[in-house]
Amino acid sequence: MWRAGMSEEIGRALQSVCERVQHAVSRRPQALPSINPRLVAVSKTKPADMVIEAYKHGQRYFGENYVQELCEKASDTNILSSCPEIKWHFIGHLQKTHINKLVAVPNLHMMETVDSAKLADKVNSSWQKKGSSEKLKVMVQVKTSDEESKHGLAPGETVELVKHIKEKCPSLEFVGLMTIGSFGYDITQGPNPDFQLMLAQRQVVCEKLGLQLDMVELSMGMSNDFEHAIEFGSTNIRVGSTIFGERIYSKTEKSASSMVSTQDELANLSVK
Ligand SMILES: *Cc1c(COP(=O)(O)O)cnc(C)c1O
Repeated sequence: MWRAGMSEEIGRALQSVCERVQHAVSRRPQALPSINPRLVAVSKTKPADMVIEAYKHGQRYFGENYVQELCEKASDTNILSSCPEIKWHFIGHLQKTHINKLVAVPNLHMMETVDSAKLADKVNSSWQKKGSSEKLKVMVQVKTSDEESKHGLAPGETVELVKHIKEKCPSLEFVGLMTIGSFGYDITQGPNPDFQLMLAQRQVVCEKLGLQLDMVELSMGMSNDFEHAIEFGSTNIRVGSTIFGERIYSKTEKSASSMVSTQDELANLSVK
């Protein structure tokens, strides 16, 4: 998988994304909490070597959407020895049978995709059993668009789930709301309604539960819309292909569980 010049390419891509992030931050309205967005480099389908290169260029947060792949990369001996400060975000749909596996992932920093009280309870008790001294940071995934393949809970249920996590899940730390949003939204048409909905969701959660706006993060924005998302107050962007290059899915690699993402992938490509 290794090519000459790859390290420089990743370094340049990372630097360019960081510059674009800072420009977008400077365009953000003053009324929004001035939180510097965290860049999560999404390394799915990409080899451990690329993660190590990005780490060498200063990147610390990485995201994966399949438990198995996350588990393999996070446990990779080269990553473990070369990337002591790496922080992994899980950004995929979590099947209940995989919870223990996720909880055991080394350097797991955040689970961005809690979308039901049942799942929250199970992750909570699994984390509790692990006996970690720190709580596991979690976000609640909100389904902001009607696209079939998206997981996440209906916007009307957000407050209740956040309340549940805060009151009934002592091993979890609620840190924010996450959305994938519709693919290929044309921002020349005006503000992305998914992002507007997320702002409104945060407002409601804060009002109903008495939280400060700047204590509730927003995870939104990917390669094709992270600047737009930051202008709406995103505090956590998940960028893959702009850093690591386009993903290639071969037919043989495609397992039943990766079909959802592949559909997303195709939808994404067809609008470009
Ligand atoms: C793949 C993925 C991303 C990154 O997508 P890019 O378009 O490559 O930046 C972000 N978020 C989630 C949930 C993903 O699955």
